[in-house]
Amino acid sequence: MKLIIYLDNNATTKLCKQSKDKIIEWLCCCSNPSSDSKLTIKTKDMIEKTKNYILKHNGISNNYTVIITSGASESNSMIIKSISESYKRHKNKLPHIIISAIEHKSILQCCNILSSDGLITLTIVEPNAYGYISYKDIEHSITDNTALISIMYANNEIGSINDVKKIGELAHKYSIPFHTDAVQAYGKFKINIQDSNIDILSMSFHKMYGPMGLGLLIINNQLISGYQIKGQISGTQQMELRGGTENVPAIAGIIPAIKDNFTNRLSKNTKMLKQKKKIIAGIEKTIHRGDYKNYFGNSFPLDNEFIVMGNPDLDNNMLPNTLLLSFVKNRKKPFCNVNLKKVLNNKNIIISIGSACSTKDPDASHVLVAIKAPLIIKQGIIRISLSDNTTDKDIDFFIKELVKNVIIQFNDV
Ligand code: PLP
Repeated sequence: MKLIIYLDNNATTKLCKQSKDKIIEWLCCCSNPSSDSKLTIKTKDMIEKTKNYILKHNGISNNYTVIITSGASESNSMIIKSISESYKRHKNKLPHIIISAIEHKSILQCCNILSSDGLITLTIVEPNAYGYISYKDIEHSITDNTALISIMYANNEIGSINDVKKIGELAHKYSIPFHTDAVQAYGKFKINIQDSNIDILSMSFHKMYGPMGLGLLIINNQLISGYQIKGQISGTQQMELRGGTENVPAIAGIIPAIKDNFTNRLSKNTKMLKQKKKIIAGIEKTIHRGDYKNYFGNSFPLDNEFIVMGNPDLDNNMLPNTLLLSFVKNRKKPFCNVNLKKVLNNKNIIISIGSACSTKDPDASHVLVAIKAPLIIKQGIIRISLSDNTTDKDIDFFIKELVKNVIIQFNDV
C-alpha cells in the first residue's frame, strides 16, 4: 500500500498504539459497570481511576465532575440545553446565551434551534479578521439574564487561540458560568481548568490520538448543585447526568492516550510549528506571498499569489499545527481549491478545504464567512493540520506537489 500523507489532523487523528493496545485488552470485557457483581469491581475501578486521572491532569480535584460522553458534539449540546433548562426553571426568566460566530456547528446549531423555538435569546459575537473574539464585545453583549457564555478555546480552521482566561474572568465578574469548547487545544496544551477560569469544558479524544466516539464534559460542582443541572440522556449512570452504559473499552484507552500525548508535548508542538513555517517558506520560494490586508483596502492585490490566513504572528496565540492558506489567481479566473484537493488526493496527500471554489457561498465554511473573507480568498482556501507524527519528509513531498500543482493552475489561462 502506498504511504498516505495525512494533513487533516484537526478532523481526526490516528489512534496511538498505547491506547489501541489497552482498548483491545478490554474489548471483550463482560461486565456492565452499573451491575452489582464481582466482575464489575475492576471495571468500576478503572472508570473511577480514569476520571481521577483527568481531574489531576487538568489541575482540579473533586470540586469538578468528569462526565464521559460520546464526543464534543454531545458535550456541547448537553451543556447548552441543560443550562438553558435549569436557568428557566430556577429564575423563571428566558435565558440569554452568548457564543461566537466561529463556534463548532454543534454549538451554533443547538443555540439556533433553541433560539428559533423561543427557548433562549442568543447573541452571536463576531470574530476579527484573524479569528479572535474580543472580550469587550462579549462584555457589551451581557444582559441581566445572561445564563451562559460559551467561547471556543481554539478554532479548528484558522488556528486562533482565544484569551480564555480573560473571558472567564469577565464571565465571573458578572456571575455568569463560562463554557469553552477545548477540542483543538486539549491535546496541545495542559489546561489547568480552574486557573483558566473555566467552569465547563468540552473535549474529544479522537482529536488527540485517542478513541473515536468518546469525549468529556468537565463541570464545576458548584454549577451542578447551584443550577441543579439535569442530563440530556436519561438513565442512572454517571450520577444521572448522562445515562447509558459506558463505552468501557474506549474509556480504558483514555489514560494511555493522555500519557502518550503529553510525553514531550512541548517539543512536539515546536516541531509542528517549525514544519508549518517550513511549508510557508517552501511555497514562498516560488510563489509571491501576498498580504491579506490588501484584500480589504483600495489597492488591487497581485495575481498569482498566496495568503497565509489568521494571525501573522505564528508564535503567539495560534495552534502550532494549523495552517489556513489561500491561493489567489485572478478575478477573471479564480483558483479552484477543489481541483487542487483532488490532484493532491491522487498523490495520497490528504488536505481539507473550507469552502468549495465552485459554489457561490452556500457551502462556504462558517468560519470564513464570519471573518468576512472575500469570495476570491474563499475560492482558493486549503486547510492543513499537522500531527505529532508528520515527518519532515512528508512536508518536503507536500511542498513539492503543492507548488507544482498550484503553478499548473496559475499558468492555465
Ligand atoms: N468542536 C470542535 C472545535 C471541533 O473541531 C469538533 C470536531 O471537529 C467538535 C467540536 C466535535 O467533536 P466530536 O467529533 O467529538 O463530536
